[in-house]
Amino acid sequence: MPVTHTQVGCPYCGASCDDLEIVVSDDGKEILEVRNACAIGNEIFHHATKPGRVKLPRLRQEDGSYKDISYDEAVDYTAKVLLAAKKPVIYGFGSTNCEAMAAVGRIAEKGGAVLDNCASICHGPSFLAIFDNGYPSCTLGEVKNRADVIVYWGCNPMHAHPRHASRYAVFPRGFFTRRGHKNRTVICIDPRETDTAKIANQHQMVKQGQDYDLFNAFRTALRGHEIPEVVAGVPREQILEAIETMKKGRFVAIFYGMGLCHSDGRNHNVDIAISLTRDLNAVTKATIMAMRGHYNIAGPGQVWSWSYGFPYCIDLSKGTQAHMNPGDTSSIDLAMRNDCDAFINVGTDAGAHFPIPAVKQLRKHPWITIDPNICMASEISDLHIPVGVVGVEVGGVVYRMDNVPIQFKKVIEPPEGVISDEELFNRIYVRMCELTDTEPVWIHHPALDVAKATTEE
Ligand code: SF4
Repeated sequence: MPVTHTQVGCPYCGASCDDLEIVVSDDGKEILEVRNACAIGNEIFHHATKPGRVKLPRLRQEDGSYKDISYDEAVDYTAKVLLAAKKPVIYGFGSTNCEAMAAVGRIAEKGGAVLDNCASICHGPSFLAIFDNGYPSCTLGEVKNRADVIVYWGCNPMHAHPRHASRYAVFPRGFFTRRGHKNRTVICIDPRETDTAKIANQHQMVKQGQDYDLFNAFRTALRGHEIPEVVAGVPREQILEAIETMKKGRFVAIFYGMGLCHSDGRNHNVDIAISLTRDLNAVTKATIMAMRGHYNIAGPGQVWSWSYGFPYCIDLSKGTQAHMNPGDTSSIDLAMRNDCDAFINVGTDAGAHFPIPAVKQLRKHPWITIDPNICMASEISDLHIPVGVVGVEVGGVVYRMDNVPIQFKKVIEPPEGVISDEELFNRIYVRMCELTDTEPVWIHHPALDVAKATTEE
């Protein structure tokens, strides 16, 4: 009899939907059906059991080909690379669990590495603004139950987070929003007529790179002052209409994406968006939330902040004395200055996402990829170590885009012999201790237990 797993989490986008139902064959090896997921989430589960998975670590040979090696050999190779390097960079972590993020800290400290995650090239500017100006945010549950004005600024969830609108923000019926989308007004601010703009009640086509000017106009109009006829390509009437809608709303939720934090102004755009949210709270309830990309990219921000006090770009080259200085200790800046001498790509694809000059610099040194899949990073690596797919073959805690922890489940076994990221990092740590003739120190992260207990209740 096939088995149906319920309340399964989806390991793809930052919406981290946890209402999936996965039907698994009676031998527990095949995924027969995926229910409730969008097309992308559906594919993630079916992809895991497709033929062609890498089941053993692969080491690059002199002729450029890959040769299968054992996990013990891969662990030994990685431990030696980390110990030999003066400043290794360990980067990625968008697609793994918090347990692995905690475990990697031990090898980063031992190897004097820089720990960095995908925020370095996506929502890093948001962190800088939040440090300066606070984060008046909320949970997606509050949005579903309370929000009656939804603003999507510089993001396109209909493509990037396909169930964001249907599960949390626009269409669902909540406690105070019983008529679903009929209770809500959606404002989309984007230079393009995206599919999200098409479901909005109002679309403001801001000129590219002029979001800061438009925020200024919003704040000025909110305070009852005159604004010019056109600001950043948006007519005054549209701005005043949006402000009136927000003022009349009972709960305004502003969601913003990379269109805001990676266009001209970057962290300053997010800073003024937070200021607008604060201003709105003088007349109604308003919140703001970053549309985080991967299902657990909020995770390293949490785990490493507990451990080191910083969410990304964490330089541990002085041991446990961490410091963070984006622009200096960020992966791409280190690569461009040739200021790191080993690169470990974990649960992401730096080969596809980094600028080519940065990849060329990094390839001058050992490059190890730890990822279940074949990707551009794995194909240019010296060593590729496959691991189980979190959320499909490995359980664990993940943080949704609203920083709510969720316990993700395992629904099938990984291919025989394939281990998890967490186990791999622990084995690398033990090997580093053996090579340096030191005793391993296992500091437990009580916060992970709290997260587990919260989500299991
Ligand atoms: Fe998965 Fe995102 Fe689709 Fe939800 S919206 S099912 S998390 S890909």
